[in-house]
Amino acid sequence: MLMARKIKRFFSVELIIFLCLILTLALSVIFFVLNIEHYDYIIETNAFFAPFEYYSNREIKGVDVDIVNRVAEKMDKTIQLKNVEFDVIIDNVSDGIIADAGAAGLTITEPRLQKVDFSIPYYTSVQYVIFSQTNLPNIHNNYLVWEDLAGKTLGSQTGCTGYLFMSDEVDSGVLEGTDTKIKGFDSHQIAADAISAHLIDYAIADELAAKFIVEKNPNLAALPLYYSGTDGMPDEPAEESYAIAVNKNRPELLSAINEVLTEMLEPGEDGKSEIDKLILKHMGLTDE
Ligand code: GLN
Repeated sequence: MLMARKIKRFFSVELIIFLCLILTLALSVIFFVLNIEHYDYIIETNAFFAPFEYYSNREIKGVDVDIVNRVAEKMDKTIQLKNVEFDVIIDNVSDGIIADAGAAGLTITEPRLQKVDFSIPYYTSVQYVIFSQTNLPNIHNNYLVWEDLAGKTLGSQTGCTGYLFMSDEVDSGVLEGTDTKIKGFDSHQIAADAISAHLIDYAIADELAAKFIVEKNPNLAALPLYYSGTDGMPDEPAEESYAIAVNKNRPELLSAINEVLTEMLEPGEDGKSEIDKLILKHMGLTDE
């Protein structure tokens, strides 16, 4: 009876402590062998969106990378910047275990706000249409309107705002019933390559991404995409604000990001903010 109680006690306390120790030791050995580093925060990006993020010599560089590094410095924390598919970033940040934040030229949108918090905005963009110089669209006034894309095959990076707006117009907007087709691609560059490969007629992408791609592909050109004005109103593009997406349970990370962005958006003596200068630098327009 006494023996049985002793055995039971051994199993319930000592064994658990012993097993915990073994587990900790085993995990330490695994982490050491696999060289798994611990980071305070994991921030996801999609490094195919120059000038905000792009690969250079196997390293991710860009405006968002500079912002994130500044946040790490300010918080005195370690941050791992991870390259993932664009389309998973918001859900991973919302989950909070896979990622704490997302820095990927992300536009603030209502559906995304349901899932994540956004920092203060740090850049304003509009959508552009990329097309081939040998298959020019009907151009008026240096811009296109959505109606100009009717009956064409359009492409965009899956899950980005260009893709979402394009789907909206085709499903229930001005392109509904016009036999306009849409295709999704893994990146804006791949969508642009699909024009040259005659898989699509036009690609839709954010302004700077479109300009960056066109700069490097002389057979392509790009123009802004406007919404036609109704009731005598002028045609206008829809402006989008970029911000950093943060998990809803990381207020300390969100406020550090906001502090850093506030500093970096402050105009200097030349009227340009640090963000303005970083954009020029990462577009390859300055050597700084
Ligand atoms: N600003 C766009 C969006 O949030 C595109 C961002 C990107 O392609 N990295 O959907």
